[in-house]
Amino acid sequence: MTKGLATRESTLNPSALAELLAAVGKENVLTTVEDRVCYSYDATSTRQRALPDVVVKATSTEEVSAVVKVADKYNIPVYPCGARSGLSGGAIPVYGGIVLDTTRMNRIIEINAQDLIAVVEPGVITRRFQDEVAKYGLFYPPDPGSAEFSTLGGNVAECSGGMAGLKYGVTRDYVLSLEVVLPDGSIINTGRRSLRTVAGYDITRLFVGSEGTLGVFTKLTLHLIPQPEKVEAVLAYFHDPEEAVDAADGIIVGKGIIPRTLEFVDGICIDSVRGYGSVDIPEKARAFLLVEVDGDKDVVERGILGVESACREGGAFQIVIARTFEEREALWAVRRVVSPALFKVAGRKLNEDICVPRSKIKEVVRELYSLGKKYSIHTACFGHIGDGSVHVNFLYGYDEKEEAFVDKMLWHIFRKVVSVGGTITGEHGIGTAKAEYLPLEIPPRELQLMKSLKKLIDPKGIINPGKIFLP
Ligand SMILES: Cc1cc2nc3c(=O)[nH]c(=O)nc-3n(C[C@H](O)[C@H](O)[C@H](O)COP(=O)(O)OP(=O)(O)OC[C@H]3O[C@@H](n4cnc5c(N)ncnc54)[C@H](O)[C@@H]3O)c2cc1C
Repeated sequence: MTKGLATRESTLNPSALAELLAAVGKENVLTTVEDRVCYSYDATSTRQRALPDVVVKATSTEEVSAVVKVADKYNIPVYPCGARSGLSGGAIPVYGGIVLDTTRMNRIIEINAQDLIAVVEPGVITRRFQDEVAKYGLFYPPDPGSAEFSTLGGNVAECSGGMAGLKYGVTRDYVLSLEVVLPDGSIINTGRRSLRTVAGYDITRLFVGSEGTLGVFTKLTLHLIPQPEKVEAVLAYFHDPEEAVDAADGIIVGKGIIPRTLEFVDGICIDSVRGYGSVDIPEKARAFLLVEVDGDKDVVERGILGVESACREGGAFQIVIARTFEEREALWAVRRVVSPALFKVAGRKLNEDICVPRSKIKEVVRELYSLGKKYSIHTACFGHIGDGSVHVNFLYGYDEKEEAFVDKMLWHIFRKVVSVGGTITGEHGIGTAKAEYLPLEIPPRELQLMKSLKKLIDPKGIINPGKIFLP
């Protein structure tokens, strides 16, 4: 797919180009090779690339609709995109055609504190939205690690999760209604502004997590909740990763505490971030838990005591408590750099986002480490283990033999995850990166049903073709 990338001429039908220019204006249509190359990839670690024929930047629902109508008329694929921080190839234009960039649709249209809702355009950056609603004393919990740059449209398309998933759920739990441009260019509004509706099938939920394959979102109505009064954090160091996993159980099951965040980081990750920021990580730490508790002052006080004692009972040999925002931020600064820091271990990193029932985490992590030993490939784990999400990382060099080993290990781990009732993707989606593994998890009849839904909504395969399902 990458071969000849930078030299491939656009094959766009000239009449289609003229109609696109008329629809959005020439300043919103990019045709140079330089511009097209910039839209040929996302953040997927396989660095897959494919050149679009044209990039169109839309600024309104009407423009999106007009662009999709041109695509429908001339049978041109349309690839919607936000910040292109996706980790499964969702925004990559694998069959060329039009990349439809919605980042200029970035207005926060309404924040309604009484109804606990906000109406936004899809290009709003997640963190900006969280900061804006916070001014009203409100909280939008879905908090992917990419919140500083990813868009809400991308978050909805991927049903992004994040650190606060255990207590507050994921993006799907906050989407009330969507304005969607369908593959024929028509516009629908799913759901309602009310916090509940059970009228008919839940079309909104079908679109959330559809990875941009069923339509282009042009407006989102999102649910908000009040900001908790207080947040405090505990960082607990362990000699052994399994102690940390047990301590996580001790917090939830033993003490009955549902923390706001419950992050696990193993020894190889710790070695990669040691010396970064202001946190002095003890030499003998082979795992840590970063746990936040939120709520009223009394709840937080009791929660922090409970977390501290569960960690000590679980074997923690050192504990740090962060009471202020600045103290918490210092701890998060270290946690946030874990993923990129792993590149220090070997030139390449494959980061998979499995999720399993919490009771199976130890079994799966043990299997990963033993595969690493068997094939002499570095492996590392970190993640939101409160809800069973574990990022399993394969760290390897530019070497064909190692590449083949990683491929074997990946199949093995995915089979294991599915066998214990888990999923091969709890966050990043299938896209192109995991299409070949999807049949491991989804049985044939269900897979057929999914493909039929795609065909029903998008009979010509206009929107984001080449994703989720193998051709
Ligand atoms: C450092 C880093 C940390 C990350 N951490 C997390 C994490 O904690 N949790 C998590 O879930 N993910 C995480 N991600 C993955 C990624 O950031 C999320 O999937 C995010 O939601 C993608 O948003 P985006 O705006 O970049 O979308 P893009 O990558 O541009 O697109 C993603 C998908 O959404 C579709 N899409 C985009 N806009 C629209 C639209 N308007 N209408 C219809 N479809 C659309 C695209 O077609 C594509 O299929 C991380 C990525 C990075 C690089």
